[in-house]
Amino acid sequence: MKGQCLCQAVIIETMDNHELHACHCGNCRKWGGSAGFTFATQGIDIKGKDNMTSYQMVAWGTRNFCKVCGTHLYFHQLGTDNYYVSAGLFDDMDFKLASQIFIDKKACYYELANDTSKLTESEFITMLTDGCK
Ligand SMILES: [Zn+2]
Ligand SMILES: [Zn+2]
Repeated sequence: MKGQCLCQAVIIETMDNHELHACHCGNCRKWGGSAGFTFATQGIDIKGKDNMTSYQMVAWGTRNFCKVCGTHLYFHQLGTDNYYVSAGLFDDMDFKLASQIFIDKKACYYELANDTSKLTESEFITMLTDGCK
């Protein structure tokens, strides 16, 4: 799958994955103004890396964005090959919302009607760290 930022200075190519996760955490909310819709993938291919910058918000990950237009690109789990790429980069919107994470941190002013699995912050962190063992 191939996606790009608003100004097309950054083009990202990933393996096919149509399962989206909505993250309701306060950091996604602050970063993007709402829940973050991403899919998990490994080993992404980036064109225009010079036009990107990143913000290391937590010890285990960086948020990466286009420094020309500001489009949010992905979250990278440091020390791994795991990337959580923004669904909005892809014009082909053949996605299905599979899960919602940090459901206990969701803003009170909306509810997603999609029938998905829901994980709290601690359930999600446990799942991530178990995956590393
Ligand atoms: Zn851009
Ligand atoms: Zn989040």
